[in-house]
Amino acid sequence: MVDFIDVIIPIPLKKLFTYTVTQAEAAFLKPGMRVAVPFGKSKIYTGIVFSIHKEAPAAYEAKDVQQILDDKPAVNSQQLQFWGWIASYYMCTLGDVMRAALPSAFILESETVVSKSKVHLADESILKDDEFLIYEALQHQSSLKIHDISNILGKKNVLPVIKRLIEKEAITVEEEVYEKYKPKLVRYVKLHNSYTSEKDFHELMEELGRAPKQREVVLTLFSISAKTKKPVKVTDLVADSGASSSIIKALVDKGILEEYHIQTDRVEYSGDDTSDLKQLNEHQEKALKTIQTSFETHSVTLLHGVTSSGKTEVYVKLIESVINEGKQVLYLLPEIALTTQLITRLQNYFGEKVAVFHSKYSVQERVEVWNHVLNHSAKAQIVLGARSSIFLPFSNLGLIVVDEEHEQSFKQFDPAPRYHARDAAVVLSHVHKAKTLLGSATPSLESYYNAKQNKYGFAELTVRYNNVLMPDIELVDVKEKQKKKRMKGHFSDRLIEEMTEALAEGHQIILFQNRRGFSPIVECKTCGHAPECPNCDVSLTFHQYRNQLRCHYCGYQAAMIQDCMACGGQDLDSKGFGTEQIEEEVKLLFPDHKVGRMDLDTTRGKYGYEKIITALEQQEIDILVGTQMLTKGLDFRNVKLVGIMNADNMLNFPDFRAHERSFQLMLQVAGRAGRTEERGKVLIQTYNPHHNILQQVSTNNYTEMFKEQMNDRYNFKYPPIYKQIKITLKHKDFNRVETASIWFAKSLRQVFGEHVLGPEAPPVARIRNQFHKNILVKIPKQQSLAKTKEAIIKINNSFASVKDFRSVRVILNVDNF
Ligand code: ADP
Ligand code: ZN
Repeated sequence: MVDFIDVIIPIPLKKLFTYTVTQAEAAFLKPGMRVAVPFGKSKIYTGIVFSIHKEAPAAYEAKDVQQILDDKPAVNSQQLQFWGWIASYYMCTLGDVMRAALPSAFILESETVVSKSKVHLADESILKDDEFLIYEALQHQSSLKIHDISNILGKKNVLPVIKRLIEKEAITVEEEVYEKYKPKLVRYVKLHNSYTSEKDFHELMEELGRAPKQREVVLTLFSISAKTKKPVKVTDLVADSGASSSIIKALVDKGILEEYHIQTDRVEYSGDDTSDLKQLNEHQEKALKTIQTSFETHSVTLLHGVTSSGKTEVYVKLIESVINEGKQVLYLLPEIALTTQLITRLQNYFGEKVAVFHSKYSVQERVEVWNHVLNHSAKAQIVLGARSSIFLPFSNLGLIVVDEEHEQSFKQFDPAPRYHARDAAVVLSHVHKAKTLLGSATPSLESYYNAKQNKYGFAELTVRYNNVLMPDIELVDVKEKQKKKRMKGHFSDRLIEEMTEALAEGHQIILFQNRRGFSPIVECKTCGHAPECPNCDVSLTFHQYRNQLRCHYCGYQAAMIQDCMACGGQDLDSKGFGTEQIEEEVKLLFPDHKVGRMDLDTTRGKYGYEKIITALEQQEIDILVGTQMLTKGLDFRNVKLVGIMNADNMLNFPDFRAHERSFQLMLQVAGRAGRTEERGKVLIQTYNPHHNILQQVSTNNYTEMFKEQMNDRYNFKYPPIYKQIKITLKHKDFNRVETASIWFAKSLRQVFGEHVLGPEAPPVARIRNQFHKNILVKIPKQQSLAKTKEAIIKINNSFASVKDFRSVRVILNVDNF
């Protein structure tokens, strides 16, 4: 007799796969344990046991589990429940969720990686159609994994194709073994046991009289350990004694010092004792009470608090009371807001109870946090994390704080699961019977609407801490200024005046330039041609620093052209303007001041962003030019003036959320001005100063914005009034994606009628050589979401069974952003 287990495998399979186990194994196994299972012709995967039962699969003969990898579950039951919700709500597979949720070090496996052959293929016509698809894809990407290939070909079993390609010498195959987790070992030294008595120590000192450097090292070691009463790191000893490591080695060789290792965490709190929590002011106190009361009846509460009102201090109080009950806290925020500033602020209160989970940290660092959370260790009672930290193995969550809840970066765009971390956090809270606090100075319409409907509780902070006034916001009419010749480059006379004054007073300035928008950056003045990306339907952007043209969609780069590629003309104009150009202009206008720039190009690497923030904090930068990276929760003391260079391109962005987002973005950047004592000043340059959004921004009128935008959402059937699912079809052949998308939309219309929009091409219709088509399904409140999804899945299944459509990629995006 055998038993069966259903296993989650980290690949997008529609169903769980069933394997056989012995009865003894079945008795040992528990859901959440890892097993190694064979799949397909020759692959072995790490899977997660989902259930243990006695029912043989009807369609195939179950294979044996190859190996059991754990003796206790690596994934707990709350997680499995949460994974199930994510998969069903966001219409993806449990395998997709598993891949996103587990640190890759847990999925011990070797993945085949295919890359282009070094030899040039003389004759491409020897390749069959499917072989050519792979070969061609490799002309644009350096390598492909097996699942990429099966996506391209639209089938699971791709090994035969790969085998043929290898035989034809068109590709090569290598094995990429996932990095395994190794705890970091730190070297320590101590005095050898034979010198610990006072007498022996004195003898040793005399003995070392002729080796003063070595004597110095031993004395330093003695004084460090007397002072700290803790093990002494080799690095500390080197730093304090000024000795080279060869001297220490000599002492170790002589048997005077002894070297040993202790396993440590990479992310370590090195601060001193924790400081007391701040005393809340009356407004904060009131907001805290309101939140606590609302938690008695609502599991989710929204805190709408203007910038610099002290929301963080309110969170801190709530966090304190939850950890005092012995429960865990998750503090979620957009990755970019996860700054040292904030981490230090929390560590000052909670010391090493705070753990940080960030995608820029190494696999190792993430596994450490994972294990602390899994073991419910005091070291990670409070997790400060970006989007993916919702997948940590919490077992006893008491509170989730979602700060900057309006941020769109909480939504994962690609790959599946395409989840929204704020919304998923609410569900995660339910799983743990915990509470969720959403916080923002500019709440999303969704959350504010939920609060209005009394689905969520609501609390407010309407004044800044210390009663600092909200910044004074002035709109500058660029059209008017141009007419009167009062513009210098992209700077109006008003902006220059205010900048001059702020600098004279010793204040700092932030200039915000949103680079989104479609205007070509380089254009030929003679024929109007703009260089485009060869892989995508967008113009290339000029990057002055490297003198390059780059595609912001696929990363393509080329040297800047000297003359027009179409007509050969040499008069090239740079239209539109980015952060680099603003930086150049500022340097010319204010040559005596230090200018910095913060955008994707200047913040690469783990600490790139931090370095710029620190430079601003330490006033090494007088004027900082940046993109939306600037908007996220930063708290600078000396910034008095904020300039928004151009409000129009964000307002004109073709998206139903563009107005809401512009409002949020502008108020958030404005919120960086004048956070202490003196009132800040904000100048917004625009061609359209009468735009309602700009009027609402300048009067800080959230409720007016909410009313007006909700009206539009209601009229045009957009969220939060209607839910929506976006279906994207992609293929390298334009005609095929065209026919396929028409077929798909027609089938959807038969079920949902007028609530189907499209197919239509997105603003950038081709990316990485794939043509895109979008179809939107709008779902009224009274229509069952579950039934809607069922119908879409059914249509998708029949779609996949049409031979011509099999290679078309279909992406389902629930609550798309
Ligand atoms: P928000 O998160 O609402 O933008 P912060 O929590 O960052 O605001 O607070 C703004 C500033 O005011 C911070 O420098 C913070 O240290 C200070 N602050 C807020 N509340 C208090 C308090 N109760 N006592 C002392 N300082 C406070
Ligand atoms: Zn491109």
